[in-house]
Amino acid sequence: MSEKSFNNVPKVIAIDGPAASGKSTIGTLISNQLGYICLDTGIMYRAVAFQALKEGIDVFNEEAVSQLAERVQIDILPAEHEDNRQFTVLIEGEDHTWDIRTPAVNQVVSEVSVYPRVRTAMTDLQRKIGEKGNIVMIGRDIGTVVLPDADLKIYLDASVEVRAQRRYIEDLSRGKKVSYDEVLESLRHRDQIDSGRAVAPLKPADDAIIVDSDKMTVYEVVEHVLRLIQQK
Ligand code: C5P
Repeated sequence: MSEKSFNNVPKVIAIDGPAASGKSTIGTLISNQLGYICLDTGIMYRAVAFQALKEGIDVFNEEAVSQLAERVQIDILPAEHEDNRQFTVLIEGEDHTWDIRTPAVNQVVSEVSVYPRVRTAMTDLQRKIGEKGNIVMIGRDIGTVVLPDADLKIYLDASVEVRAQRRYIEDLSRGKKVSYDEVLESLRHRDQIDSGRAVAPLKPADDAIIVDSDKMTVYEVVEHVLRLIQQK
């Protein structure tokens, strides 16, 4: 599909969904197709979790983690390395693109994402980036809280088993030593906290279009979402 086939293209597209539902793969492909920027907001929460671990901050200390979120410098830049990265992530000026994807960060990221001040700090940054338009923003609460006026809201879903299988294969291909059961357990843990928290829980916005990707390939999901964009 060429860019020319889009006329009244939605300027702000929100893609939400649970961990490993393919949001960043789909979001990156869609944004490339439209010539938009893509912001994966999970990176920001991961950056806070990573920096807390790095500084030896107890992730259950809400005050300390909140202060960290309000001061930490996170820069998300276009990928300039040939190592399959979708973005380059600088935390306090240092490249931690891959460090934010370790099991240690997976283990605590949902805990730090519960804290209201952490969410406010990240949401403020996300809105500033989102208000410029021509953006695909990916997360858990983009359609419900961060950009409730987004022109198109997609909620990308898949069963936890399918998501675990996909993430497991992806991890293996990156040389990570993990078992399927560990990946499954980690996703369940995050799903439970992300859906159960009081502030900005993971859920589809009332006006979101739910796309269940269980039986779809990446290519099929992208085609489907591009059709939804055209129909807008
Ligand atoms: O999308 P990703 O798996 O990288 O997100 C990591 C974690 O960051 C999620 O499990 C969730 O706890 C948190 N998150 C969030 N709100 C967002 C994006 C991510 O709470 N908008």
